[in-house]
Amino acid sequence: MEEASIRARQISQEPAAMDRGHRGAVTSRSDGRHDLEAILTLQRLAGNQAVEMLLQRAPEGAPPATVTTPAPGTVPATAPGTAPAAPAAPDPAKLSGAHWKATADAKWADSSSLSDLDSGFKASMDKFLEMLTANNITTGEYTTKRPKQRAYLLHFSVEVKNGTTAPKDVPKEDGVDIIWDHGDDAKSKKAAGEMVDAFGIVGPAALISNHIAGNAIDMKFDFTKMVKDKDGNNTITYKKDGKEVSRPLKIADEAVMGVKAKGRSISSIGDRELSKAGEDFGVKRHIDNDIVHWSTTGN
Ligand SMILES: [Zn+2]
Repeated sequence: MEEASIRARQISQEPAAMDRGHRGAVTSRSDGRHDLEAILTLQRLAGNQAVEMLLQRAPEGAPPATVTTPAPGTVPATAPGTAPAAPAAPDPAKLSGAHWKATADAKWADSSSLSDLDSGFKASMDKFLEMLTANNITTGEYTTKRPKQRAYLLHFSVEVKNGTTAPKDVPKEDGVDIIWDHGDDAKSKKAAGEMVDAFGIVGPAALISNHIAGNAIDMKFDFTKMVKDKDGNNTITYKKDGKEVSRPLKIADEAVMGVKAKGRSISSIGDRELSKAGEDFGVKRHIDNDIVHWSTTGN
């Protein structure tokens, strides 16, 4: 800014010299060629930035004192470097980025309460949890019901980060005033990635999620109080349809309380003994890379 004002001062001291050199040229203001010459001279003397400033300063319709103004619209064509001002920058608060976590937490917080589950799924969960408790397994770190605005932010931050949806193609969500497109692909992806990290997203974050209707729960386990069976296994036992069921659990790579689940995956997760146990109670887990996620459908 300092530099610009110095250049402007230099220009204001030049008019005499300008006039002497171009007296003949600038007498006819309707002659575009001469106007161009005057501008090019000014550019040579003072630089494009100063020319731009002077052009902006000239009152509409009135010819400026020291330099002729080309008709509006002719500047970009005849004088490269005097491009029109860039469009106003987007509101940084609206641009995607980690700060959207705080907005989402304030407006569209996840519920961690089991009582926010849909009544049918809650009844299934209650029985599943009762069985786990009887086997000395405790559970926690719940996420139950999720507002659809939050699901939208989670889903598209993953999509944009991974490049599966272009920032400009992200649909609008009512009430969520976010700008995904930073005008630069790398920047847009980076900002979306910061959101993925800020939200601590574990899985693919479905847009149409069972969480929205209260038909899903994310949870972790504590197996440390389990009593091992005679073979040293962490085995759960319970009754189903009057029959005794016994399932030895593999717990080393499970979703354990206090341990990050993000980025972890269990292959064929639905075939695990713990998943099968849940399924016996109507609580399904089928997404390999979302090890905390249980629902009515598994998805
Ligand atoms: Zn989930």
